[in-house]
Amino acid sequence: MSEAIEILKSCEAFLEGHFLLSSGRHSSAYCQMAFLQQYPDRCAEVMAPVAAKVKELGADVIVGPAMGGIVYAYELARQTGLRAIFTERVDNVMTLKRFAIHPGEKCIIAEDVVTTGISSLETKRAIEEAGGICLGITCVVDRTKPEAPSPIPILASALKLDLPNYAPEECPLCKEGKLPLVHLGSRKMNQQAKQTL
Ligand SMILES: [Zn+2]
Repeated sequence: MSEAIEILKSCEAFLEGHFLLSSGRHSSAYCQMAFLQQYPDRCAEVMAPVAAKVKELGADVIVGPAMGGIVYAYELARQTGLRAIFTERVDNVMTLKRFAIHPGEKCIIAEDVVTTGISSLETKRAIEEAGGICLGITCVVDRTKPEAPSPIPILASALKLDLPNYAPEECPLCKEGKLPLVHLGSRKMNQQAKQTL
């Protein structure tokens, strides 16, 4: 069985180089998890250890926030026999638009990448407003820093990565000048990043 990082590299879900992040900072690595979803067999292999952990947790439902979490919620549900649903934004508010959660059902959030865990708080609120209990998060890649733990516990991840990123003026890759700066983020991501600056 391949290491998760090797599988991610094989489908360009994890890239090494010199990248401009949507935050405006520079990094030597870039995660684009949608690329893993191109290959269901590799996705299943990466998620197998996470699914094994989920089986021990006594959950009822896997909740994937759209878009990034939907496929991973589905895959975890497929491997565990649980139910998968998704939350989505309506008027910019994360909601359970199409699904019900029965009162007291135990839910696990499935994310692709967790960087701060703050964005999962909206999914947790949607679960709790529907009467569910949020046990925590699972993800493919856990990028949280020890000094800034996720506000919702991360119960399992396929891969833990501590990737440094730099302010442009402090970027060692810019100083080296060997690798051109690559921008892979979507236009929409950039607009959102600008709006939050
Ligand atoms: Zn740079």
